Amino acid sequence: MRRLAVMLALVAIVAVAVVWFLRARGDEVSPPETRGAAATRVILIGVDGVDWERLERLVLDGRMPNLGRMMEDGASGLLRSFPPYVSPTVWTSVATGKLGEKHGIGGFTVYGQGGGTVELIGSGTIKCKTLWEILAAAERTSGVIGWLVTHPPVPVTSYTVSSRAVMGMSSEPSPARAERDGLDMSVGVHPPELWDSISGLGILPSDVPREDVLNHLGSVDYLDDTTVETRMSDIAGRLAGDRTTVALARRLMADRPTDLTAIYLRGSDIISHLFWRYYEPESWTRGKLKPEVVETLAPVIDRYYERVDSMIGDMLEQRDENTVVIVCSDHGFAGHRGHEGFESHGEGDVAFGVLMHRDRGIIVMDGPGVASGVLIEGASVLDITPTVLSVLGLPAARDMDGRPLASVFERAFLERNPISYIETYETGEKATSDGPTESPVDDEIKELLRSLGYIN
Ligand SMILES: [Zn+2]
Repeated sequence: MRRLAVMLALVAIVAVAVVWFLRARGDEVSPPETRGAAATRVILIGVDGVDWERLERLVLDGRMPNLGRMMEDGASGLLRSFPPYVSPTVWTSVATGKLGEKHGIGGFTVYGQGGGTVELIGSGTIKCKTLWEILAAAERTSGVIGWLVTHPPVPVTSYTVSSRAVMGMSSEPSPARAERDGLDMSVGVHPPELWDSISGLGILPSDVPREDVLNHLGSVDYLDDTTVETRMSDIAGRLAGDRTTVALARRLMADRPTDLTAIYLRGSDIISHLFWRYYEPESWTRGKLKPEVVETLAPVIDRYYERVDSMIGDMLEQRDENTVVIVCSDHGFAGHRGHEGFESHGEGDVAFGVLMHRDRGIIVMDGPGVASGVLIEGASVLDITPTVLSVLGLPAARDMDGRPLASVFERAFLERNPISYIETYETGEKATSDGPTESPVDDEIKELLRSLGYIN
């Protein structure tokens, strides 16, 4: 009897030990299974014009908790950009790994046939393969929401809602557009039949609750009626655009999961253009700003950064343990002291376009295989595409101008997924769209670009 009891006790001890041993081993072994390249998805979130120093300060103050957590758990740093810091050029560099001279996107517009008219630049002008084309060739899926220069959508993605479609869904239509197309932006969507299920997600500036706008504006006691009106519509317009993008991202990521989801938020750039004069009034040389107005409107940019952080949080509810998230910007912001030659451009209430940009953008990256607490050094916008390819276990190409950011990865990840290269992805035919290059919202976009000082 006693022998049996001792035996049973021994068996129990051994069983506990074995379970403990397997668990301990399991903890070590499970990462390769869950962290293998094939299982990893990427969410790439582009935030236009977010500046590294402003981000760092707000994160330190605890005002951007979502990006703050990602920086703590993952890798982050300054992301270099390249002059002249024009958004369509840089975002195309982000999505190709190549400089403007290789991808062919020089700015917001091109001259139309005969040279007499100015047209918005279209996806057909991109001369090399985009990340979504490269993934399609490797039988990986992607979904693209709001990314610049994605109109007309090239049918290589699982879905694309082009930047123009987002603009059309989130801005009050001009009388001409209202009569002609209403809010129909199906020409900017791939596949076209997707339009029916997403058209209801658009948020117009008039849909944004007044309290939401006022939370960004702060007290309006010291502002005259025209200023209140103008500034409220500035903020409502950006909230409508970015909230539409977030609604699209949440719906599409849930309904149509893809290996890569690329999402673009524009509001941070435009708000920086429009409110910088209050943030650094000493740099504003055009007309006198009332001190009480300056005091009221100075915090608007920081408040919008906080909002961007919370929108990122909303979208990341869709991530799972196999998702790597990369948040990046195309350039930083220097404001009105930006660059030489600054004074010679624009007049009156204009926002000076790219002259307000600088090269100090951001990258924040987190997820399985990404090392913890790493400060990324020497990264540029050109490194995003090769790095996304590395996360997904695909080779970078030697003819790209950027390189995979090897320092962001855990050693175990690199051992399982060594960084590799091929000569080029530029073989075979380049995919194009046969959709119309124009869209119903083009005139309104040109007007916005003019008001921001981007085009004449
Ligand atoms: Zn800008």
